[in-house]
Amino acid sequence: MLENYDKVLEKISKYSGLEKGEIEKKIEAKRAKLSGLISKEGAAQVVAAELGISFDNEKLKIEELLPGMRKVNFVGKVIEISPVREFIKNDRKGKVVNLFLSDETGNIKTILWDLNHIDLIEKNKIKEGDVVEISNASVRGNEVHLGSFSELKLSEEVLGDVCTEKLFREKEINELGVSDNIKVRAFIVQIFEPKFFNVCPECKKKASIQEGNFFCNTHGKIVPEKRCVINFIIDDGTETIRAVLFNENLKEFGISLENFSEKKDEFLGKELYFLGSVRKNKFFNVNEFIIEKIEEINLDELIEKMGKINH
Ligand SMILES: [Zn+2]
Repeated sequence: MLENYDKVLEKISKYSGLEKGEIEKKIEAKRAKLSGLISKEGAAQVVAAELGISFDNEKLKIEELLPGMRKVNFVGKVIEISPVREFIKNDRKGKVVNLFLSDETGNIKTILWDLNHIDLIEKNKIKEGDVVEISNASVRGNEVHLGSFSELKLSEEVLGDVCTEKLFREKEINELGVSDNIKVRAFIVQIFEPKFFNVCPECKKKASIQEGNFFCNTHGKIVPEKRCVINFIIDDGTETIRAVLFNENLKEFGISLENFSEKKDEFLGKELYFLGSVRKNKFFNVNEFIIEKIEEINLDELIEKMGKINH
């Protein structure tokens, strides 16, 4: 995300003739005015608009698509199409379908709401593997949305190696809403004792105990699988959030129940990258970060990145 921000900054500088430092000051002032309710990228968009710079007529790369952007145009290869879903809202029937579009810089979930666009999918006129051109779409969170004023059509463009790997966007904790594919660099400041529970081996739902036997609501009497969950708190200097690490991912970090207390000491106070999705915990009414992956910080890369930002 920092790289994207840097690119937008460069673009604003190029179009406005202002120094990057000066633009950054404007962006920070905008954020301060909005009490930090807006991300750096969002504030950059506002500043760009105020300077009369528009990205309207420009074809953007997928990694350049930032939350809050309107009227964006880009080209992408369809790498996945979800089944068309129907819904009813205000007594009217609607349909929605998700495409995953990809270019050499990244990939993004793209949501079609317009029946004319969805028709193209249903009639197989646009299918997986096709390259499409999108105009006049908007970016909300990490998704592109196409309404009835947006355009979707097949493109003549040939895209070579597209990026199909799931991409995580770097964010600060105070910017996290409920969202997918987030990457945060933070310190582990607290680790709680692991919790154990039993799940049904078939549907993986929590099992209940009745008279010493385990039961699943769907599958009846079962021999349960043991699961484990570890909660911890991470802090990146902007805020803290509760992170949740499940069974399946524990092994990847070399954590087992036997070595937990040893590993706990090793991990506590460590700065790492955390990748995953933010979900609302309805019971406690707080957001929690469901971790899919933890990565070590590569200091060389980081220093290089910082260098780019400061120059
Ligand atoms: Zn079950």
